[in-house]
Amino acid sequence: MTLATTGALIADAVRERGAVIAFNVISLEHAEGIVAGLESSGAPGILQISENAIRYHGGRLAPIVAASREIAAASSSSVAIHLDHVQDLSLARAGIAEAWPLGVSSIMVDAAHLDYAENVAVTAELVAEAHRTSLWVEAELGEIGGKNGAHAPGTRTDPYEAAAFVAETRVDGLAVAVGSSHAMTTATADLDLDLIERLAETVPVPLVLHGSSGVPTKVLRDAVARGIRKINVGTALNVGYTDRVRASLAADAHVTDPRRYLAPAREAVTESAARLSALLVAP
Ligand SMILES: [Zn+2]
Repeated sequence: MTLATTGALIADAVRERGAVIAFNVISLEHAEGIVAGLESSGAPGILQISENAIRYHGGRLAPIVAASREIAAASSSSVAIHLDHVQDLSLARAGIAEAWPLGVSSIMVDAAHLDYAENVAVTAELVAEAHRTSLWVEAELGEIGGKNGAHAPGTRTDPYEAAAFVAETRVDGLAVAVGSSHAMTTATADLDLDLIERLAETVPVPLVLHGSSGVPTKVLRDAVARGIRKINVGTALNVGYTDRVRASLAADAHVTDPRRYLAPAREAVTESAARLSALLVAP
């Protein structure tokens, strides 16, 4: 199987009124685990590498992204590579310039922390740059809480402002604030499903849900039924990953070979990716 593109996977989701899941990659074990999970469910998916993950890898874009590309390209599932939550303008420009050789077909420009006019200006400029090489671009309107530890379930994206934002920036997909919040370790968030439906009617591009780890699976299915087309999942993988590391270390106080605790951690990622993609994506 060759590498998929985010634009093609999202177009399939739009046509089928379904969704594609984008899973956050931090380590090689995440990328391997996610793709193994997608293969077992038969679903397509996206490996996304965030600005924070790139910063963790010494600020270097290529090593973790190229490794993810190789894992995706060798998969029997359709897997695309996306850059997630890019706020740093120089990283955004580098990401756009180096995207295709690294297998990256899309980027999320995250300027939602700026006021509306600045968000439009920054996003529009980067969208124009990205569209010159046919990258698919996601942006965010109505800051989705939790990135700095503080959950903000009260934040909401206004449908008319969202439609104007898309028209002004020419973005291809829009992350919306509809009740979810980043970094939640329990699935207790309540989504505003009526707002998702109104956004889907008003906004002419596919909608993206961030903070999906905090949302019960049934509600995620409802969100897809109302118009969410890309679902971002990070924390849910890391809860399982870290639990397995903790259990492995607790079970053997003398273990030194990292493979002894990373293999079960990677297996936890596989199980989560398989379960979520089977429930939400697979036919
Ligand atoms: Zn996010």
